Amino acid sequence: MNHKSHAGPRTPAKSVLIVEDNPLNMKLFSAMVAAEGYRVLQAQDGRSGLDMAQRLRPDLIIMDIQLPGVSGLDVTRTLKADDSTRSIPIIATSAFALRGDTDTIMAAGCDGFMAKPIAITAFLDLIETLIATSDEQRSPAPDPRAQV
Ligand code: MN
Repeated sequence: MNHKSHAGPRTPAKSVLIVEDNPLNMKLFSAMVAAEGYRVLQAQDGRSGLDMAQRLRPDLIIMDIQLPGVSGLDVTRTLKADDSTRSIPIIATSAFALRGDTDTIMAAGCDGFMAKPIAITAFLDLIETLIATSDEQRSPAPDPRAQV
């Protein structure tokens, strides 16, 4: 896998949606992601996270599992059940991952999982890898009128 291929001047910045209700985590994740050159989108709860994902189609989502109201797993299931958002990679984050929880998280459709507190380098590598992988899968852009 290629490493730290920083976007050229004509490449628009990739966007990362962070769905996170804890203000300190939001601040930390946003700073990390912005420092890597990604455009940061923020949602503090599941409902607005779902809404922003559907409207803005970010290149990747960092999804807290424990959210007020709609859980991160429910948001993930909804996004992965929809053709227009299915290809967006989702990294789940959770402070309470017991044995078996990661199975549930991956079964909900998440593409990766990071336990909190986050290991920063591994986290950034996972973001980069998933964005690169989904880029390959998405090109060439499908004809939206094509019935497959
Ligand atoms: Mn939370």
